[in-house]
This record gives sequence, C-alpha cells and structure tokens, in this order.
Amino acid sequence: LMLRSTWAEPENKCSNLQPQCPDSGDRLKFNFDLVPNILVALQDYTPCSETQCICYVLNIRRDLESYAVTGITQKMINQSRRFGTLYKVLNGRLYRHPDCTYPSRCANVEHFLLDVVTGLPNMEFVLNVCDWPQVHFLSGLSGPVLSYSITSQHLDIMYPAWSFWSESGPTLQLYPLGIGRWDLMRHHLSAVASRLPWKSKKPIAFFRGSRSSKERDSLVLLSQRKPDLVDAQYTRHTSDKSTSSLDAELVPEMPFSGHCGFKYLFNFRGVTASFRFRHILLCKSLVLHVGEEWQEFFYIALKPWVHYVPVSSNATAEDLEELILYLRLNDELAEQIAQRGYDFIWNHLKMRDVECYWRQLLLEYAKLMTYDAQLEPEFYEVTHTALQHFWN
Ligand code: UDP
Repeated sequence: LMLRSTWAEPENKCSNLQPQCPDSGDRLKFNFDLVPNILVALQDYTPCSETQCICYVLNIRRDLESYAVTGITQKMINQSRRFGTLYKVLNGRLYRHPDCTYPSRCANVEHFLLDVVTGLPNMEFVLNVCDWPQVHFLSGLSGPVLSYSITSQHLDIMYPAWSFWSESGPTLQLYPLGIGRWDLMRHHLSAVASRLPWKSKKPIAFFRGSRSSKERDSLVLLSQRKPDLVDAQYTRHTSDKSTSSLDAELVPEMPFSGHCGFKYLFNFRGVTASFRFRHILLCKSLVLHVGEEWQEFFYIALKPWVHYVPVSSNATAEDLEELILYLRLNDELAEQIAQRGYDFIWNHLKMRDVECYWRQLLLEYAKLMTYDAQLEPEFYEVTHTALQHFWN
C-alpha cells in the first residue's frame, strides 16, 4: 500500500485484492498493518501546549532562518517588491502600495494586519496573494516574500491565508463571498459534527472539488468503479473554463456540512495546499491526507496517524481501495484518529491563534530589518474605514 510512512512487515501476504487467497475466510486480510504506525506516532507525539499559536512558531524560525546572518536589506526588498504588494508598518500604522493582484485577498489579509499593527516596530514586507509561491531555492532570488503555501523547495515565508477571513475567495456557487469566516465556520462545523455521531456517518470515502490537481484522479476513478465504497466527484472550478475532466460529469458543489456525513474524507493538494484540510478535520470524520509537499502554516503541528491518515500522492486506485477497506474493518482506530484531528483544530486553530501567528511572524521579521522603512509617495494608509469602503 502506498502509504507515506514505513509500515510493519507484512505478516500475511493475503490481501482483499487476492480473493484466491486460501484462508481468507469471511474476514478480509491485508498485506499491511497500520496499528504499529499509530502506536509509534502516539508514543512520539508531544501534545501542543495551550499557549496561543506556540504549536506553529517553529515555522517562523525556519522561514526566517535565511535572513539570520544578512538581515533583511533594502536591496532585497527592492528585488522582491515585484513579487507582491509592498506593505509598510510605520509608527503602528499600516501603509500599502495600491497594486494588488487580487484586491479582495489583500483586503482579507489586511483584516489581520490591522488587528496586530499597533505596537509593531517599523518594517516593510512583500505580500504575495497569488496561489503560487515566488522564491524557489534554485531561482537565485533571495526574497523575502510572504506567501500562504510553500513546499520545502521554497524560501517564501508562510503567512496565514486570506481565507481565514474570507469575505472573498475561493468563490464557489455555494460560497459566492468565499468559503467563509473561519471563526464562524469553526462553530458551524463543530455543531454539525456534534449532530453526527461516528456510527451515523456513511462508511464511504468522500471528496468534492475541482480538478485543481491530477492527484485527485485515482480516487475519482475508484469512485466510478466502486460507488459503494467511494463518492468522489469533480465540481467546476470558478476560474476553469473547460468542461472536461476525466470524462466524468461535473457535479454540483457540496457544502462542508455535507462532507461531515461521511466517515472518510480525502484531502488533496490543489494548485498548492487546499483550504479544505482544516475544514474537514472539524467534521469529526477521518481525514485521509494525500501528499506532504504543500504546507500551510499550521500543518507543522498536525501529525500523521495521530490526527490523520497519511496517503502517498502516488497511491493507485487499488491502494486506496485497500486502505478504505482496512479502515472499515478497523472502525475504532479510525474513529479515534478522527476525534484527535477534530480536537486539535478545535483547540489550537482558533482565530486568536491566527492573529497570534501574524503578530509573532511580524515581530520576528522586524528584528531582521537592517534599515529604516520610509513612506513613499504612492502609498496609502490602510484603516478599518478604508476596508469598509472597499467591501461596500
Ligand atoms: N469546496 C466545497 N464543496 C465543493 C467543492 C469545493 O466545500 O463541492 C471547497 C473546498 O473544500 C475548498 C474550496 O471549496 O476549500 C475550493 O475547492 P477546489 O477543489 O475547487 O480547489 P482546491 O482549493 O481544493 O484546489
């Protein structure tokens, strides 16, 4: 099975995919056992302390490490400013250049920046609101650029995505103003989850989303073959003009609350990390997280086998089938992981953790500034009133 971590030596080579296996009897046999992985993960796991956003601060240290010796120089910022919108913090006030590729994303981020700006030291930083990070380690660029999702190959500095305060994007027919404010969504999904005890959930693997990465294809193909085991279908992406996707009909979107009625929820990367992850963890369903390449700032504290089941991005439809069948037969294990995933997000990914991360990030960033940021002619001040005008 194409799981990411190592797994126990197979004790029994018989698999449910080998019906000719002599002694399979009524019970399916698998050529892997996930229990040792879970036990080891739990043994190694140190739960995060309650202190706000402390679970994630290691990211900040790692992301800023490249500037520990040189500091952040004016020359670096001059080179980086073409990769995003330049913001300045001056005397506890926030200023920005008028250009932003996605103005509503900038406005959502500004919600957080205004929350933390008072009391921050002077600084300037480049904020990239495109999906794709900008500073690949082979590009020869130095940064700094703040981006919401990166891989280990990128030197961008991660910030909490605009979708935590989503008065916009990603827009779906379901969510024309964006997938929602995280503070409200948390409570909504938690209430939905508490109305849906584990035993009432359908023992089916579920996915709804656009074909923003082909890694989703194996599950959709399996769903076509085994609809009793998997319900995975593509929806139209708002920015996608094409209609074809794996020869499959595009289906209507399903709100997050609808996802919670299923026991096994798949999370795949999209263009970069998908905002789906934190939402479906709040369903109290078991999250099967595919691939480990693309990160958001909070992923660092979520541990495979403790909070979710890790799945390789190369897993075939057969691998996925075997895994889901295994989870069906090991229902209690699945429920326990689901509960821990929920508990983590509920306890440690509150709006105040997001604000705390922004504050810590900018405090640490400012310590690296080697020059005094100055106001420039075109820049304007971002205020709550300016933001309200923007939304109206
Ligand atoms: N989404 C949803 N229901 C759907 C389709 C999508 O709630 O039927 C959410 C999904 O969870 C994600 C966002 O809409 O947070 C965009 O999903 P999509 O698959 O289009 O793109 P992704 O960002 O995952 O690549």
